[in-house]
Amino acid sequence: MSYPIYPTLPHDLNSPIHPVSAMDYLPVAPLRALQLHRLQWTVKWAYERVPIFRRRCQERGVRPEHIQTLADIKLLPFSKKTDLRDFYPLGLAGGNMDETARFHCSSGTTGKPICISNTMDDILVWQNGGMRCLAMFGLRAGDVLQVSYGYGLFTGGLGAHYAGEGLGCAILPTSGGNTERQVMLMRDLGVTAIACTPSYFLRIMDEARRQGVDFRRDTKLRHGIFGAEPWTTEMRDTIERETGIVAHDIYGLTEIAGPGVAGDCSHRTGLHIWEDHFYPEIIDPETLEPLPDGEVGELVFTTITRCGTPMIRYRTRDLTRLHTEVCPCGRTMRVMDRISARSDDMLIIHGVNVFPGQIEAGLLRVPEVAPHYQIVLSSTDTLDLFEIKVEVTAEAFSDNIRALENLRKRVLDAVKSIIGLTPRIILVAPGTLPRSDGKIKRVIDNRTK
Ligand code: ADP
Ligand code: ZN
Repeated sequence: MSYPIYPTLPHDLNSPIHPVSAMDYLPVAPLRALQLHRLQWTVKWAYERVPIFRRRCQERGVRPEHIQTLADIKLLPFSKKTDLRDFYPLGLAGGNMDETARFHCSSGTTGKPICISNTMDDILVWQNGGMRCLAMFGLRAGDVLQVSYGYGLFTGGLGAHYAGEGLGCAILPTSGGNTERQVMLMRDLGVTAIACTPSYFLRIMDEARRQGVDFRRDTKLRHGIFGAEPWTTEMRDTIERETGIVAHDIYGLTEIAGPGVAGDCSHRTGLHIWEDHFYPEIIDPETLEPLPDGEVGELVFTTITRCGTPMIRYRTRDLTRLHTEVCPCGRTMRVMDRISARSDDMLIIHGVNVFPGQIEAGLLRVPEVAPHYQIVLSSTDTLDLFEIKVEVTAEAFSDNIRALENLRKRVLDAVKSIIGLTPRIILVAPGTLPRSDGKIKRVIDNRTK
């Protein structure tokens, strides 16, 4: 691989911009030129190295030299999660085994895992994306980063680990689980930042409460680096209000790299995508036609600097839009909306399309509601049963039946005003719903399909 991964811009040492972030500000014209150059390289590489990709191109009569502009990307075939399963384990790999540095796998929902081989350059590209996210979040050498994402085949742990290490942070690699010890170490080692799923952080918050640990008073925690699952801005506000930390959003996926493909800046306009490595498109999931910036559709990525498993036009199934406006922070890398929904997660209830995030947003607008809930769907022969179990905060929980009934009605109204349906709301005591050490499953769908 002959392309520089690290900033190629002259860096002014007096600039407040962290050196690792210089590339974030590359002016648009050279950025597009760089992307085209890298796209052409990638297509050629994949055409030579990945027989399935070559065959699909040949079926369409496309050859690498047909890619003359960035818009020509639409000539190329899409790839999907099912391809990674159908050609399990390494049918989409471009690197030889002696070039491979590490595998990552993701289980997804059912069936065979998907496997991604990475060369050392790929790992460095991914680390670069992660470092740029952390630098953008305000982390610096001297920060103590607790990595509570799981380590292993899942990209979360190692992704956050290498990103923090690259930036010069002190890493506390706790992985997920053993929450009691996590809280103790966080306090005793002066942890300033934690990386984990937002749902696991909720569990850490519970445990801190149980131990009488107040984040503001007893810890140095300032930054939460949250991702790997959808979470709403309401959830972000709840976490920030209760702990005093800043909850940053980091996005990534195994197929493209891991955490560090995109992240939010302090302006919170959405997530900047490191598009010098990960080229984004938004498509209409029905027609598969590219949509202009500003329109909501399915996010598609092409890796333009990856050798091990070059992914071309990979359909993420995540729904978002690319912004047309430039972010006030000055970064030129395009911004996408936070991923609040994944097309796979859409529920059809009584004929209405509902995303779990809409329910979360409604629930968390009621201050007495704790950020723990479960959506349960079951069916009788004729009717879907739609229940939401919601935890009440310790302060609001009482045996005053009338007060609880009043709260239940307010929760129902909050949800109903967003989704237009009337679920059965069941208020439950604090601490009774399942917690998670990683990605949480909040929907139990027992309906017969
Ligand atoms: P799996 O597909 O098995 O869950 P991954 O760990 O690779 O495996 O998950 C990637 C997916 O996680 C993304 O496609 C997206 O749906 C979700 N995700 C990752 N980061 C975020 C984030 N910050 N916000 C919302 N969703 C996210
Ligand atoms: Zn910005």
